[in-house]
Amino acid sequence: MNKKSLTMKAALAALTCTVCVSSMNAQKQYPKQEGMTPGMSEYWTPQPKVVTPGDIKTNTAPSDAIVLFDGKDLSAWESVSGGPAQWNVHDGVFTVNKKAGDIQTKQKFNNYQLHIEWCVPKNISGESQGRGNSGIFMQGMYEIQILDCYNNETYVNGQTGSIYKQTPPLANAMRKPGEWNVYDIIYSAPIFKEDGTYRVPPRVTVIQNGIVLQNNTTILGTTEYVGFPKVVKHDAGPIILQSHGDPSEPISFRNVWLREL
Ligand code: MG
Repeated sequence: MNKKSLTMKAALAALTCTVCVSSMNAQKQYPKQEGMTPGMSEYWTPQPKVVTPGDIKTNTAPSDAIVLFDGKDLSAWESVSGGPAQWNVHDGVFTVNKKAGDIQTKQKFNNYQLHIEWCVPKNISGESQGRGNSGIFMQGMYEIQILDCYNNETYVNGQTGSIYKQTPPLANAMRKPGEWNVYDIIYSAPIFKEDGTYRVPPRVTVIQNGIVLQNNTTILGTTEYVGFPKVVKHDAGPIILQSHGDPSEPISFRNVWLREL
């Protein structure tokens, strides 16, 4: 066989082999991916705990709530400056005592759902920040404003439902003086880095009388009357109710309970 014939034979053999391998691959069978069934994306445990809701008519708290005021006494509270809470309990409610200063829960909390009702007296006087001013400090650091904002204008990041001096509320949902307002507050505590800055900042949702005022809003730092918020590392903290120094008639609270989350 001459040299040219040998080369052609080799080329023909190579072509034959390529065809052979391609044919084998085409015939190879792999398992099919299993199809989804509805049950593959459903799970049954752990079941959420059963909580019996409170009764709106009788102002009872949900079955798993920590009751912070049931109309009888302030035993769950103490004065921020030390000693018993000296606010005035009467007729199933308690009223700010401006001479006695702020009060706070004895217990400290992290994440929670807080229910608290408050009423501006019918005969309220004053204007802007000097009219029914109080507030709820979460973990003792961050104030959700309470103020009579019914026909009473003030700076918007200081009105009812603001994160005071930070974020205005999304709406003005005030009831008239003499009527009860309901706050439902869902608070997520911050998580800190080693260096004391926020890894996850605190966040809050505030609903007043069924209307959203804060929608999972990021809290920037501590409440400061003068200056800007500060980031201060802290642990679990109390709920503080503010006894504001304005000369207007003091507001009242009732039906206070909290569910830890
Ligand atoms: Mg205030």
